[in-house]
Amino acid sequence: MSATRIPAGSRFALLTQHGKAAAFEPAVQRLGGQLVLATGFDTDSLGSFTGERERTLSAADAAQTKARLATELSGVRFGLGSEGSYGPDPQVGLLPWGVEIVCCWDAERGQAVHALAQGPQPVYRQQQFTELHDALDWARALGFPQQGLIVGQPGLAVFDKTVSDEATLRTRLIEALAHGPVGLAADMRAHRSPARMAMISQAADALATRLQSACPGCGLPGYGPVRLQAGAICSGCGQPTATARAEVWACAGCGHSHERPLRASVDPSRCEFCNP
Ligand SMILES: [Zn+2]
Ligand SMILES: [Zn+2]
Repeated sequence: MSATRIPAGSRFALLTQHGKAAAFEPAVQRLGGQLVLATGFDTDSLGSFTGERERTLSAADAAQTKARLATELSGVRFGLGSEGSYGPDPQVGLLPWGVEIVCCWDAERGQAVHALAQGPQPVYRQQQFTELHDALDWARALGFPQQGLIVGQPGLAVFDKTVSDEATLRTRLIEALAHGPVGLAADMRAHRSPARMAMISQAADALATRLQSACPGCGLPGYGPVRLQAGAICSGCGQPTATARAEVWACAGCGHSHERPLRASVDPSRCEFCNP
């Protein structure tokens, strides 16, 4: 049985950037492990949130690449990596939505285990301003300075990703507004976004759960929920809806999977046919 578990006292390497260690620490403790910081690599070369570099890897691949790099740089067996993606919500496309994918790479087995957290991310916003007071009100409502802001854009008169107090923000806005409208955007780099750190932490927690459960097929750790299965039946009209009826659990190694039922039916108020 012990061969199927993450050995107690295992070390987990994480690339040091954007202060993500605090988000992973509780999950690593749950696994009885120890977090090790790996240095010497610029994770921004894999893509960044500020539109300066084109992203070339999918989020899951990027998380896995970071986790694998962490093991290579540190010589530690297990590596952790994370990648976030932000955009409109997948259902209606109106809410700002965040997805955080985390990965644990086992260098000894050459196996990756992923987990994710997702949900509304109200701080993920950007807007153009022509008036100083509108911009400052918007920044305060977003939670600045705890939530960081990016002022302007690359190539424009002002582009600043380091503003961290209201006096400096005011100065930069006045400078930018002298040239025309200025854009403000939430800085979603983890160390500048407490809301994003919380979502990474949730994903890391889901990863720990998955790493603690052994696959019924092959016995290796890494068995857990990977996606939701739509199709709960409307109690009014009997049609399958977009609401999840089950969680699909799968093994990262052998592909074994099963469905864990969540609910058989939903209220007609959540049915696309009865309540379009
Ligand atoms: Zn398996
Ligand atoms: Zn219905």
